[in-house]
Amino acid sequence: MKLLVTGGAGFIGSNFILYMLKKYPEYQIVNLDALTYAGNLENLKEAEGNSQYQFIKADIADGMAVAKVFDQGIDVVVNFAAESHVDRSILEPDVFVRTNVMGTQVLLDAAKANQVKKFVQVSTDEVYGSLGETGLFTEDTPLASNSPYSASKAGADLLVRAYHETFGLPVNITRCSNNYGPYQFPEKLIPLIVANALEDKSLPVYGDGQNIRDWLYVEDHCSAIDLVIHKGKNGEVYNIGGNNERTNLAIIKTILENLDKSEELITFVKDRPGHDRRYGIDAAKITSELGWQPQYHFESGIKETIEWYLQNKNWWENIRTGEYKDYYTKQYGSA
Ligand code: NAD
Repeated sequence: MKLLVTGGAGFIGSNFILYMLKKYPEYQIVNLDALTYAGNLENLKEAEGNSQYQFIKADIADGMAVAKVFDQGIDVVVNFAAESHVDRSILEPDVFVRTNVMGTQVLLDAAKANQVKKFVQVSTDEVYGSLGETGLFTEDTPLASNSPYSASKAGADLLVRAYHETFGLPVNITRCSNNYGPYQFPEKLIPLIVANALEDKSLPVYGDGQNIRDWLYVEDHCSAIDLVIHKGKNGEVYNIGGNNERTNLAIIKTILENLDKSEELITFVKDRPGHDRRYGIDAAKITSELGWQPQYHFESGIKETIEWYLQNKNWWENIRTGEYKDYYTKQYGSA
């Protein structure tokens, strides 16, 4: 089995590659990643030297480069490659459309031409838009994206669906809630708060901090994708979630408590435009049809994650000195 993982140098993709190499030592894994600001080969140090693993630096929107990768014979594609940060999509929507929509279409064409056995599109619960105080997203919830990021992911989802309906491509789409765990780029909430708190920097919180997200440990997301590759019914969408809804403020307070830092670091900043109020996932379908069960409890998972960032300061300190600094200043005022 030869697996093409795109975006494998990012947060979830790298965790997924390490998970699959361990679980299926007989599989070959090709990691295609453009190494944008979010891609980091440091995440994959454990895979270096493994003869089953291969890295190729390429852009998913580059048809020639993608065709060349498929020439080596690919059985399954898992597409993680994306621009993934909502705030950046407000600053630069065009990059999101190029990678997330056009890049996915290039991959779909190559997958179709090479008759792959499965194409898994890793999508997000954000495509469904925002919930009120009650209810959960099911796979039948209409798409109602509110940010350029989620709109570009929804566009990709519809293309994936179309390649199944029109060309019979064996596809699945997964829509997962917020992930947390090791190797998450420090622009995202949990690593941002851990890193800033450790440096006694102010902790920017959008609006009133009461926006709700569902949180899932990254390894539980990986195990769900593994099941979808092997057991997913072609053409189906699977929601993935942790049943762990928390307000952003509650997450921040949990981190501060674990780090023994003061809540005085919290600074409320102007809300993000189009900020979705609540996401909540109904994961009954993947649970009942594919037998998926998350293994991590949020309370222990978050502790482990904080500990990982404490033990791997070099990893995030290196990132925070580069391009990230300019972005942070643009977004929050001062570095
Ligand atoms: P990330 O930003 O950490 O990583 C994205 C990776 O894609 C990087 O390695 C980057 O270099 C690569 N990439 C970007 N543009 C590329 C291009 N044109 N060609 C090739 N590679 C390119 O993202 P992540 O948090 O790991 O998310 C991975 C996927 O999972 C995304 O598709 C995202 O929409 C989805 N997702 C993320 C979450 C979450 O909580 N992080 C939740 C649900 C779904």
